[in-house]
Amino acid sequence: TKWVYSFGDGRAEGRASDRNLLGGKGANLAEMCSLGLPVPPGFTITTEVCTYYYSNDRTYPTDLDQQVEAALEEMGRIAGRRFGDPEKLLLVSVRSGARASMPGMMDTVLNLGLNDETVEALAKDSGDQRFAWDSYRRFIQMYGNVVLGIDHDEFEEILSDEKARHGYDLDTEFTADQWREVVGLYKEKVESEIGRPFPQDPREQLWGAIGAVFNSWMNPRAVTYRRLHDIPASWGTAVNVQAMVFGNMGETSATGVAFTRNPSTGEKALYGEFLINAQGEDVVAGIRTPQPLTEKARLESGSDKPSLEKAMPEAFATFVEVAKKLEAHYRDMQDLEFTIERGKLWMLQTRSGKRTTRAALKIAVDMANEGLITREEAVCRIEPASLDQLLHPTLDPNAPRDIIATGLPASPGAATGQIVFSPDEAEELKAHGVKTILVRVETSPEDIHGMHAAEGILTTRGGMTSHAAVVARGMGKPCVSGAGSLRVDYREGTMVALGRTFRKGDIITIDGGTGQVLAGAVPMQEPALSGDFSTIMEWADQIRRMKVRANAETPLDARTARKFGAEGIGLCRTEHMFFNDERILAMREMILSDTEEQRRAALAKLLPMQRADFIELFEIMAGLPVTIRLLDPPLHEFLPKTDEEIAEVAKSMDVNPKRLKERTEELHEFNPMLGNRGCRLAVSYPEIAEMQARAIFEAAVEAAKRTGQPVVPEIMVPLVGIVSELSFVKKIIDDVAKQVLEASGAKLDYLVGTMIELPRAALTADSIAREAEFFSFGTNDLTQTTFGISRDDAGAFLETYRKKGIIEQDPFISLDVDGVGALVKIAAENGRATRSGIKLGICGEHGGDPASIAFCERVGLDYVSCSPFRVPIARLAAAQAAC
Ligand code: ADP
Ligand code: MG
Ligand code: MG
Repeated sequence: TKWVYSFGDGRAEGRASDRNLLGGKGANLAEMCSLGLPVPPGFTITTEVCTYYYSNDRTYPTDLDQQVEAALEEMGRIAGRRFGDPEKLLLVSVRSGARASMPGMMDTVLNLGLNDETVEALAKDSGDQRFAWDSYRRFIQMYGNVVLGIDHDEFEEILSDEKARHGYDLDTEFTADQWREVVGLYKEKVESEIGRPFPQDPREQLWGAIGAVFNSWMNPRAVTYRRLHDIPASWGTAVNVQAMVFGNMGETSATGVAFTRNPSTGEKALYGEFLINAQGEDVVAGIRTPQPLTEKARLESGSDKPSLEKAMPEAFATFVEVAKKLEAHYRDMQDLEFTIERGKLWMLQTRSGKRTTRAALKIAVDMANEGLITREEAVCRIEPASLDQLLHPTLDPNAPRDIIATGLPASPGAATGQIVFSPDEAEELKAHGVKTILVRVETSPEDIHGMHAAEGILTTRGGMTSHAAVVARGMGKPCVSGAGSLRVDYREGTMVALGRTFRKGDIITIDGGTGQVLAGAVPMQEPALSGDFSTIMEWADQIRRMKVRANAETPLDARTARKFGAEGIGLCRTEHMFFNDERILAMREMILSDTEEQRRAALAKLLPMQRADFIELFEIMAGLPVTIRLLDPPLHEFLPKTDEEIAEVAKSMDVNPKRLKERTEELHEFNPMLGNRGCRLAVSYPEIAEMQARAIFEAAVEAAKRTGQPVVPEIMVPLVGIVSELSFVKKIIDDVAKQVLEASGAKLDYLVGTMIELPRAALTADSIAREAEFFSFGTNDLTQTTFGISRDDAGAFLETYRKKGIIEQDPFISLDVDGVGALVKIAAENGRATRSGIKLGICGEHGGDPASIAFCERVGLDYVSCSPFRVPIARLAAAQAAC
């Protein structure tokens, strides 16, 4: 088996499409080499070795060693050097690289191959003692941490002691001799921690680092990240070994990161940060404040330090060319890592850049307009669920602002919450429903759970590409980074701003759009949906086949639905119209009635209220279809529970409270979910369906008159399992329609259909379709009844099922294609066989889930219906499903 793939000198054994085998980083390094870009030579150990390693008690394939030796040889040949040879010193980096990018999850070791002997060779070779010892101390710290498991802080402590001793502010102030002393202290530290000296043999170092990369695949950080992002453990990581280039060789050297377009706004302009005389992670770690790449960015940010454009114009010009070439090649915005060694540019990484939703929309629209991608591709580039971010509130521009600090606008949106200083606190408070802002000097992968739990993130150190900024953008969380004027004291639990002290628990607000940090809570406002958003939506609408409707019953929901582009109401749950103080009393009277007469009296009170609701709904949705479901839930949901409530109802009904209590008990059910509900209610109490039908038809006639547009109500009978149930209820509806239309002299079209939410209904869809003019798949209940799982009780075991790998996904979130989906498919096919034009839709929560929407497209449903706020998501997902 070939375990090792080499790259360098304009050639590579792998390519970008080998991502599964070489990991993202390795595949793209190979691709960049083949494109003729300046990439230090190296090789990639495949993800298959990782898989082998874990299925063979953490051992390697026997021929791996030999292949690595050959690749080292080749790398040395290209670099004109030799690994482990002090005469022609070759140092390497060892970098992990999984298939899916896992930022910060795996650790990289730089300057590998240095030891007490080779450090002298490096000094001689480069003519720079300071550089050599700086590199060695970095190597010992990284290797000590990543491979030997010694805490970073152990080294940082030594470093800050030395800094203090010399009275320095910055690492760059150390002299060669002082670094040499630090190296001595580091080595002592290592020996005291691990009980043996720091490894001097370069090959031992190399295999130690390779092993550490493979081991890190299973470290808790990586495991958590994979769980949060649904990445299977079986994918494994690759290891990249690459010749070092040095950004820390003095003032003509530098290291940096860049995006080919602005990852926050999407603006088409090179965007990034760099540091002179620095190495690797210095930029993202926020050790010094990085400098902007371009003059334009420098002017905009008001930075007093020179841009790369100014400081190293030649290297900058080359970099601009490379960035252009890579973006055009990958046809997407790229996230780049580079190092400049004594004026020469080297590329170390390229990948598709993470971006905010706003930026994603702008980039997709711009690239389509530039002709780089098609409109279909543009539509497919947007993660539907990410549109949620746009619906984030922003600060009310007219509200007073008590600004206590300004940092960088690292991730948009605004958030208010209590200050917490530790990720654990954020998590704990979240469990109690308390909103928090996580305040840190800077964040690291250990803080991810807290970042998830917090409403927003505030750091006092680090730039736009710091860990906090990158992760927050990925999560769609507001973030302000590098608010340098704030002083955070974890031990005291305080944050000092302009002389004001804020404590844990105090409320602050952050504005990730401007970088402002504000005292107290600030009023927010709904976002204005940008031009790019509507462009993408327009394109999506041209592509998609399925219609998108909303589940709505209140005027507010209906208006929101229209604003977001809903093409009708797919589910109006009439019972929701009864859950308010004034109405529930009439509802209770109706339910608790002993006789039909009493019941009709109570229903007569409800009729005008229902009618008024429907008129308003029809008016708002003028010209669009509205599906109204007859009363569905078990009656006990409306029953009085406390003695007080019983007394109140008894009084209004003028009956004895004791008798009323008995009646309540009679109505008790053991399994209300499977009890007297849905169409069963209409069969037991036909007058309820009668009243609702009357309200619908009278409202439709009135609304048509008022709006001048025809109203076509679609009346939906819930929980049908037997076709004769539907025939029974349909007759009631038809009779009422006749009465209303005769009385008013109006004309009206209407449809009567049913929800398919019982397996029996799905299996007998051919006969049900004789009566039903439409089917709407009620996949919430259909999932419950297919699995035999009560959704309300599922919480106790579904998560366990997921953890133990019994199920992959919660079937109430993403439609179970194999089981529930099979029933949907049967019902759709058999329904159509009976009635060829039968309208088919879905109205469960799944109607807003992109994966479920793709399934609906496959079975050829006519529309999906979801909550109003998910309508844009559904429009986009429906378009992607149709692509
Ligand atoms: P991550 O996945 O965390 O970005 P990387 O492997 O990309 O980890 O590397 C971490 C840092 O080290 C980056 O800044 C990268 O540019 C730098 N680096 C990696 N390999 C080399 C090398 N061969 N020479 C110089 N710098 C390197
Ligand atoms: Mg990193
Ligand atoms: Mg990197």
